[in-house]
Amino acid sequence: MLEPLIKWFEENQRPLPWRTSYDPYQVWISEVMLQQTQVETALPYYERFIRQLPSIEALAKADEERVLTLWAGLGYYRRAKNLIAAARQIVAKHGGKIPADYEALLGLPGIGQYMAGAILSIAFNEPYPVVDGNVRRVLSRLYGWTEDNPKALWDAAACAVREGEPRLVNQALMELGAKVCSFRSPRCLLCPLQISCAAFKTGMQEKIPLVKKRPATVQVHLFAVIHRRGTRFLMKSVDGMWEFPMYPELPSGSFKKIGECHHTITHHRLDVSVVEGRLSPEQLAWKQIDAIPISSLTRKIWKVKSAQK
Ligand code: SF4
Repeated sequence: MLEPLIKWFEENQRPLPWRTSYDPYQVWISEVMLQQTQVETALPYYERFIRQLPSIEALAKADEERVLTLWAGLGYYRRAKNLIAAARQIVAKHGGKIPADYEALLGLPGIGQYMAGAILSIAFNEPYPVVDGNVRRVLSRLYGWTEDNPKALWDAAACAVREGEPRLVNQALMELGAKVCSFRSPRCLLCPLQISCAAFKTGMQEKIPLVKKRPATVQVHLFAVIHRRGTRFLMKSVDGMWEFPMYPELPSGSFKKIGECHHTITHHRLDVSVVEGRLSPEQLAWKQIDAIPISSLTRKIWKVKSAQK
């Protein structure tokens, strides 16, 4: 069953930078970036990151603010912090080389079952399965599973990866999910697995996999306050990132609204009124925007300020 899939992958795979050498460091960084981000969005971040921090040693030596600045815009900043911690551990305990060992990988910060399987299979060509959203969708449709069963999915992925060259099998399943077996309107007529696909045979493609009900979106209104002194702004440090101070109610004083922006974080929709005014600098710091790591929301607020006539 896998032969047509592998052939399809070899002919259709996107030429991605981490696929040229299968360097374990590059595979690891790309996989962490791709956990919640599409390839097209992650690519420029990946290229800049690897250009500036080309090795485990460079990452291990980098200070947190520098790494967070390179990560800014990708979200999930805990992942960037875990990368630094894991790189330092790899230098201290594994001679600066990513271990090709499942248990040793699981002992590193931020590495779980998926990431260990991705590194082992893609970088080291070892037969470890991966199940991400794409693989879950392809396998569920292939076997016609209408119920969500993580154990069955991991077992099926483990069987598949033992049937061929591990790095090709896993990447082919992921690529098929991304390019052909998409969530809406899968392109079954172009699919190399069509002949074996249970969902295709029964016309169930769009009903599988089961879509989990999302929690209702909670709307939150905040005021972001911009207090400027020359080229610097009063900023607040949140988990290593810097943001304009935000409040559900404005503190006392006089403020002038200059615009608004919107941002969604998981199931929260933030409606932010951007205001200018003066704040007490307590627990805040004067910072130059272009020299600090800022989140996507802070970038949107900054855009409102920059667009001001
Ligand atoms: S035939 Fe369609 S539903 Fe089945 S794996 Fe291929 S693209 Fe997905």
